[in-house]
Amino acid sequence: MGLTILIIVIASAIILILLAIAIMIIRALIVHPESRQPQEIELAKVDGLDLAAHLAEVIQCQTISMDTTGATVKNNSSGEINPFDELHEILFKNYPLVSRKLTLERINNYSLLYTWPGSVPHLPAVLFAAHQDVVPVDESSLDQWDYPPFAGAIAEGYVWGRGAMDIKCQMTTLLDAVEYLLKQGFEPRRTVYLAFGHDEETRGSGAKEMAALLKERGVRLGALVDEGASVMKEGVPGFDIPVALIGTGEKGSLTLELSVDCPPGHSSAPADQTSIGILSKALARLEANPMPASLQHVKPLLSVLAPYSTFLHRLAFTNLWMFGGTVKHELIKSPQTNALLRTTTAVTMIEGGIKVNILPPHAAAKVNFRLAPGDTVQDVVDHVRATVADTRVKIDLPGEIGREASLISPSSSPAYSLLCETIQQIFGVMPVAPTLVTGATDARHYALICQNIYRFTPAVTGKDDTNRVHGIGERISVENLERMTQFFIELIQNWSYASAL
Ligand SMILES: [Zn+2]
Repeated sequence: MGLTILIIVIASAIILILLAIAIMIIRALIVHPESRQPQEIELAKVDGLDLAAHLAEVIQCQTISMDTTGATVKNNSSGEINPFDELHEILFKNYPLVSRKLTLERINNYSLLYTWPGSVPHLPAVLFAAHQDVVPVDESSLDQWDYPPFAGAIAEGYVWGRGAMDIKCQMTTLLDAVEYLLKQGFEPRRTVYLAFGHDEETRGSGAKEMAALLKERGVRLGALVDEGASVMKEGVPGFDIPVALIGTGEKGSLTLELSVDCPPGHSSAPADQTSIGILSKALARLEANPMPASLQHVKPLLSVLAPYSTFLHRLAFTNLWMFGGTVKHELIKSPQTNALLRTTTAVTMIEGGIKVNILPPHAAAKVNFRLAPGDTVQDVVDHVRATVADTRVKIDLPGEIGREASLISPSSSPAYSLLCETIQQIFGVMPVAPTLVTGATDARHYALICQNIYRFTPAVTGKDDTNRVHGIGERISVENLERMTQFFIELIQNWSYASAL
């Protein structure tokens, strides 16, 4: 009798295991690439050299972002005109129809807010953002630039210079797109705003003020696009096909200062640990114990990629309930994908010590955290206190109190679907997936008045391009400028005429 029961139990277990395996295989087999073809369109004819010339002129204005106090805006080499004013004059000259037909307001001195009134003013408006400012160029690396960073050289099929990729290209191609549409006599149904901040790389105060002003005027935005992810030429790690990524959210940021004070004394009779030793141990504990990783924010990306992957990957991506641990383990191996999974910890600055034979009275370090949605500033502070667990280590928030991660915009809205369709119309049929943007953008300020915030730069980019952003030899291809302009021409029409967003 006992044996019979044992056999029944074993047989049931085997049947259950086989059933689970069958379900997993079926789930992996039934996923297919999105087969819906985008509506065919005739691409707008744009002149790449014109677009390149417009960007090149704008690159020549040295609109280096204001310092954190907002006090300085450097004048150009001749010292006669402020580079932001110089840039505004160039925009006025190069986009005559935009200048005549759109209302332009200068906000917070240098930010630009253009309004293109729609024929149905009560419909929620749409907003296209970019920023005018750029990060400085490291003087010691000047000789490594093929073309001087502020010359705006057009050569080898590229426009070269600081801001070419981040993100003056988005500003000029948006203006080229609107100029084109105005020439065609296009009239938007929804009001279209163009908002170009002037200090995104530092404080983002321009965008913040523009968002506050629109809110004060009772403006509701149906959708917004700003810089962010792009069409990845080499795909994402592990996939060889191009993938378009749309940033539906962005990480927050927090910097904490950790410091230790100890009585000074002669180094010939030290205690067990100096302030530097105590601090180093605390930092090592933080690095060894990062905030927990979660697949939550990469699940949509994995489900879009599943149909395009090998059978084993597909099996894993469609059965995360079973293989979630393995997938997570693989993704945290690369710093890029690890950053999508968790709040990251980076010890970025350290100081301490006066002289080789004096015990250091003070040691301090700064640790920068990039917050994943779901983790708050307070969560990170609590985590740091619990991990350091040493009352000798002081934990402070220097300066600003940190920035929470953004909300995640829906990838099920009509605005998102139209964005996907426009991407496929311009760049060809390819997987399009939502992702988290690990850097900061101006877009977050508009959360006051907009739920559909998408961070997307409509350019095809590879690893080489990404390394040049904020780095050496920044450039953008003329081909990308053409596609960006064509993309904005389509998206402005698609969004401004959408019955729902
Ligand atoms: Zn940028």
